[in-house]
Amino acid sequence: MASRELVTNSSEETIQFGRELGSRLKPPVLILLSGELGAGKTTLTKGIVSGVGAAREDEVTSPTFTLVHKYEQGARVYHVDLYRIGDFHDLETLGLEDVLAEPGVVIVEWPDKLTLRTDWPILRIQLEHVAEDTRKITVRDESGVVNSRDRATSEDRAP
Ligand code: ADP
Ligand code: MG
Repeated sequence: MASRELVTNSSEETIQFGRELGSRLKPPVLILLSGELGAGKTTLTKGIVSGVGAAREDEVTSPTFTLVHKYEQGARVYHVDLYRIGDFHDLETLGLEDVLAEPGVVIVEWPDKLTLRTDWPILRIQLEHVAEDTRKITVRDESGVVNSRDRATSEDRAP
């Protein structure tokens, strides 16, 4: 999946898309979620974490005040929210070294607040508030970390 754009009309639809995405990820992957407050970054994360199989979606809450949440029922996912960190921080001073230490799935809200140094493949997702319950989601999978939907019929099949 190189790039994809979709519109959702409810938080449940956004969660459902996240679930599908999460179930198709090839770790390690660093997922950078951008978009204004209320755009749906945390809502999408609920679906991704549940799709990866690290927690149920209702167990996923915003790490705005704690900076990072770790979910590890089975697979492991770190969910980081950098909204409140301010300037002049890096992963080390924030105590986030563990997050990228072992290959896995790491989801970051407000990624532009920090320079993230990693050689992990990056999946960029932009969320835009279109209307009350409508969001536009743009996924850019330049590194090919999302498996194609139907493995049996797609280009994944050996020639
Ligand atoms: P962010 O993490 O980007 O600040 P949240 O996911 O915390 O945003 O909040 C998004 C809010 O918008 C939630 O209250 C959610 O229920 C609501 N919402 C309404 N429609 C949608 C939609 N289509 N997709 C995602 N969230 C939606
Ligand atoms: Mg959030």
